[in-house]
Amino acid sequence: MEMLESVLIANRGEIACRIIRTAQRLGMRTIAVYSEADAEALFVQMADEAHLIGPPPARESYLRIDRIIEVARRTNAASIHPGYGFLSERAEFAEACAANGIVFVGPPASAIKAMGLKDAAKSLVQQAGVPVVPGYHGSKQDPDFLRQKAYEIGYPVLIKAVAGGGGKGMRRVEKAADFDAALESAQREAQSSFGDPRVLVEKYILSPRHIEIQVFADGHGNVVHLFERDCSLQRRHQKVIEEAPAPGMPPEMRQVMGQAAVEAARAVGYVGAGTVEFIADGREGLRPDRFYFMEMNTRLQVEHPVTEAITGLDLVELQFRVASGEALPFAQEDLAIDGHAVEARLYAEDPEKEFLPSTGKLWALEFPESEGIRIDTGVEAGAEVTPYYDPMIAKVIAHGATREEALDKLAEALGQTIVAGPKSNAAFLKKLCEAEGFRAGAFDTGFIDRNTADLGVGPQPIDEVAVSFGASALISREIERLRMAELQKSDEPSSPWSMPDGFQLLGLRSVGVPLRVDGERVEAREVFSREHPGASTVAFGNSDPWANEETDREVEAPHGVYIIRNGRQTFVQTYDPFDVDLEHMDEGGTVKAPMHGKLIAVFVQPGDRVEKGQRLAIVEAMKMEHVLVAPSDAEVAEIAAEPGAQVAEGARLIVLKTEE
Ligand code: ADP
Repeated sequence: MEMLESVLIANRGEIACRIIRTAQRLGMRTIAVYSEADAEALFVQMADEAHLIGPPPARESYLRIDRIIEVARRTNAASIHPGYGFLSERAEFAEACAANGIVFVGPPASAIKAMGLKDAAKSLVQQAGVPVVPGYHGSKQDPDFLRQKAYEIGYPVLIKAVAGGGGKGMRRVEKAADFDAALESAQREAQSSFGDPRVLVEKYILSPRHIEIQVFADGHGNVVHLFERDCSLQRRHQKVIEEAPAPGMPPEMRQVMGQAAVEAARAVGYVGAGTVEFIADGREGLRPDRFYFMEMNTRLQVEHPVTEAITGLDLVELQFRVASGEALPFAQEDLAIDGHAVEARLYAEDPEKEFLPSTGKLWALEFPESEGIRIDTGVEAGAEVTPYYDPMIAKVIAHGATREEALDKLAEALGQTIVAGPKSNAAFLKKLCEAEGFRAGAFDTGFIDRNTADLGVGPQPIDEVAVSFGASALISREIERLRMAELQKSDEPSSPWSMPDGFQLLGLRSVGVPLRVDGERVEAREVFSREHPGASTVAFGNSDPWANEETDREVEAPHGVYIIRNGRQTFVQTYDPFDVDLEHMDEGGTVKAPMHGKLIAVFVQPGDRVEKGQRLAIVEAMKMEHVLVAPSDAEVAEIAAEPGAQVAEGARLIVLKTEE
């Protein structure tokens, strides 16, 4: 069978890179499409050719079926790979490919449709003999009826959007009195997220384990499963760590579940790679009669690398082979599990601030290279994490002979991972890999929520040692700058630490060093050695300034220094006493955008007098609103951006004239 000549990748980031790698190995021509935000992205550089399809927002670029098909036609693309997310589960997209004679690397549109709505999918697989979660998944939607059904099912119940995805439109309800309010908010969220308010009600499974089966089918009637993945470590119903095989999985249960998944795939005439998601009742360990179908994802999953690690297969290669008409090169009995693999999703987000996405430039990004470690990423140092897309930085995957070994390797790799700029969840992931209950295999989907304190989630005390390191680095930098200026004999403006440096301050025991640490004003002290004239160090808080502490890394940026210590980032800047004491305000009275985002409201007009603390504007980034307030009493001199505009981090928004 002839391999497809070329592929257009209708996606971005790590998955686009991953698909391109396999396609190029198979000798295919690779065609990238990208938005204006991704012009410099790694996947654009890797592809043989790349075509701009629109502005940054996904609905104007990566979700534009018409533009993507137009590029595919113009470039004579033999096939389109949709990756995951974006258009991957849109039947219209598969149909548009077919209508234009382009091979869609995925299942037939009919299979996508059949599995697209959770209620219809449940009915369908139930008819094929696959166990489903007890509940109501019919068409009636009136509250009295659904409340009655919830009563019959027995609390706790879970209300789910039939069009759901990403945990949206999902509400757990503990008792009848809470049902109506939960239903209303689930329907509202379902309507706003999916344009479809319909819900289903099902039994909330206690001690739930999320276990999914990777299936593969070809166009010749062969369907196999590639074993399971356990994705029970979740936060807000979103996967955080995934592994294969599932800890504590009895072989007979694997066999029964695998068979159920194959039946579900057969029931919709599936072709290609797919995942059948089950929820297992883990109260008494995993048992073959206690798992239930949740939904089928008709695409490649984010976590497919763990399956690749334990089977030695390249799932993207298999997708291309099946799409080009080949039969699967193996039968079920040819497949076996080799060792254990675990994947962690490294995100640009701040576990200390409710996992708020953290955007901006990656001043440093480094991963370890070691045996058994695979890194799938779509960004490099110097790239920007933008607010437009999912802020995943990379997937770190470890493969070992045993689960212990894989987890040890993963924890070590995460500890060696350096991210500077945006905050990352690296330290949180490392703690998860080391968490006792998880190591012991005693966990369910509530594990993270129950252990937040131990996992370093929530506000943490300032890292005093990191502040000392940061301040020392800034002082050295300042001394160097002054020395250079001296050499060039230029006029130097006075610096916050003023010209007389430590050498002239001998005799003094310490000098105050005003700093900003992660935006907060703090005061450190430069301390001078008695024994070694001229030597100084910086003390902060209770840390011993002369102790031999270490950092993982110091990363210099023009506006400060990032100290990475025990996987945690502390950003240290000089504090300019003449600066107004507000993060988003510069010396000229300019209020700047705190991050990339959209200016959604401006509450003031030129000429308005504002009081300290008064709300000026709101910037929305990653669906979170950030209120900008006046740093002092002032008069509004200028509004520099229009409400509704996309604004870059640091962009001028409002100019204030302060009193004095
Ligand atoms: P979505 O499509 O929005 O991601 P899923 O149906 O895949 O929603 O469910 C997401 C997660 O919610 C599951 O991985 C599991 O943790 C939890 N969940 C779903 N259904 C149940 C249930 N009946 N009982 C307990 N937890 C559930």
